Amino acid sequence: MSTARRLFIIQLIPVAGGGLFAGRAWSQAMVDEKDPQATALGYVADAAKVDKAKYPKFAAGQACASCALFQAKAGAAAGPCPLFPAKQVAAKGWCSAYAKKP
Ligand code: SF4
Repeated sequence: MSTARRLFIIQLIPVAGGGLFAGRAWSQAMVDEKDPQATALGYVADAAKVDKAKYPKFAAGQACASCALFQAKAGAAAGPCPLFPAKQVAAKGWCSAYAKKP
């Protein structure tokens, strides 16, 4: 194998791996606010829409992105949360199980 061909293949590996990861991430549906689990936890995709009368512990600035249960990289628009298996929550979302990242 020529050096140029070997280099070409080595450069392709991260691209292919990234593509697979992105494909997996996008294959997960977003949590629907009307899902039974979502309504039980008061999940909203936009923390600005939290019912503050119903959830008085909500404080401005709280969102999935700063929750200890949010499992996406910093800056991601959405990511997994163990409370909603096989689905993604919005980084701007919120639910009553919010726990600030340490
Ligand atoms: Fe968002 Fe945290 Fe609630 Fe999961 S537990 S939906 S990350 S606020």
